[in-house]
Amino acid sequence: MEDWLFVGGVVSLDLVNTKRDRWSAEPRETLTTPASVSRWADAQGLSSVALPVEDSEREEVLRFREALYALVMSPNGPTSSADIEMVNHYAYALPGALLKEAPRGHGVAVARPTVGSVHALLSVLAHDFIWMVGEYGTERVKECEHERCGLVFVDASRGVKRRWCSMRRCGNRIKVQRYMQKSQPAGS
Ligand SMILES: [Zn+2]
Repeated sequence: MEDWLFVGGVVSLDLVNTKRDRWSAEPRETLTTPASVSRWADAQGLSSVALPVEDSEREEVLRFREALYALVMSPNGPTSSADIEMVNHYAYALPGALLKEAPRGHGVAVARPTVGSVHALLSVLAHDFIWMVGEYGTERVKECEHERCGLVFVDASRGVKRRWCSMRRCGNRIKVQRYMQKSQPAGS
């Protein structure tokens, strides 16, 4: 059973989060097999049938994922043009979301295509990423403040004050930690 987490706010950052514990010397891979890539796409509602995935395609997904991570989180210097080219390469391959209707007030306005191949999956993810960067900018992509988390998310909140991947996962961990520290007698 995989423990997928959907805290990124957008599906492309959820992909980034399939590599866990980036803070540690030994990050944990959750996309360990081609089948796990297929299950992840299914869990995201991106494929209606089990996505066929080759070994080499799984590696392609991982390379793409690390390019996204570098683009939003690279602490040192300018973004790499190779990473940008990779995102655009997949975005070019297929059109993005399609307008379904133009409802006023509510309703589903756009349809994200369901994918039948890894390349189509990467195309959807590339479009999602490009949309996210255009909408929010990479400065709104944050890493959870819990020191042993490392998950990333886009902070779409109004005041841009979101600190945790999720309140349930890390917000509470921190609260408990603080409470424990406070309740310890001084000097102990
Ligand atoms: Zn966290």
